[in-house]
Amino acid sequence: MKPVRCIVLVLLMALAGPLAAAGLDDYKPLRLPEAARAATGTDRVTVMFLGVATLLFDDGETALMIDGYLTRPPFAQFKAMQPDDALIKKHLARAGVGKLAAVAAVHSHFDHALDSPRVAQFTGAMLLGSESTANIGRGQGLVESQIRVVKNGDSLPYGKFNITFLTSAHLPAQFGLGQITEPLKFPAPGEAMKLGEAFSILIENQGRRYLIQGSAGFTGSELAGHKADVVFLGAGGLGATTASYQGRYWDAIVKTVGARRVVPIHWDNFYLPLDVDLVPSPGFDKSMDALIALGKRDGVEIRLPVEWQWTEPTLGLK
Ligand SMILES: [Zn+2]
Repeated sequence: MKPVRCIVLVLLMALAGPLAAAGLDDYKPLRLPEAARAATGTDRVTVMFLGVATLLFDDGETALMIDGYLTRPPFAQFKAMQPDDALIKKHLARAGVGKLAAVAAVHSHFDHALDSPRVAQFTGAMLLGSESTANIGRGQGLVESQIRVVKNGDSLPYGKFNITFLTSAHLPAQFGLGQITEPLKFPAPGEAMKLGEAFSILIENQGRRYLIQGSAGFTGSELAGHKADVVFLGAGGLGATTASYQGRYWDAIVKTVGARRVVPIHWDNFYLPLDVDLVPSPGFDKSMDALIALGKRDGVEIRLPVEWQWTEPTLGLK
């Protein structure tokens, strides 16, 4: 994306709140149902959505988080972003997070990785991600013993969970490509949090398989040979792409893994806070139209997550 177009998009997102507020009500029948949080000793995995691609997984014994983006600074702070420790602690407490085994960043853009190191610090988790994500952690003072740089194909066990990282791609032509090559000092401008590496993340737990695709990009071959029951599918920017791109993205991710349920993520305006109802970003309806049509074609359910609610994403799948 050219810088000017990017700025226009960023501004649109900053202004979108009141304009798009009613959008989600149209999708009430497609909501992922609320479920009780997995308790110790029960063979269940529950997931809580916390905006963008932040997802909390819990099987009653072990909990993991994807991204952990909780500060959500307003657009006015784009030039000088930093984690808000009090807010992060407040949100972790509301989500019922005590100890986390790991926090894994899908890539290093601010709307994914800004707070991941702090979440690791506050929960004892290992920070998992690219070298760029590690450098966000180092810049925030996270100790090296809590940082693990992962590479394509790395698969790590945490309790009954197994988490696998596969090199994928970001939505094309976005801002902030490149690597963060040294510890990043904060506050930092949003664009300083460069992409690093974009991962598809597979989470398995006793036969249940979840794929997290944090950004609407693909290489086409990243998931060959892998299966998943549920895909948490990045929809950010998807509405602005062509029908051909949407179809190829769907095929590369959802069709390849043979998923039977898709949970769109990364559809909210991430300049707005988590204490109020999420507001869809511009293009949300177009993304949903495309996903609903593709789901219908292939017999795949589309289910929207509701922030702060525990859900059991594989429930009802045969
Ligand atoms: Zn990104």
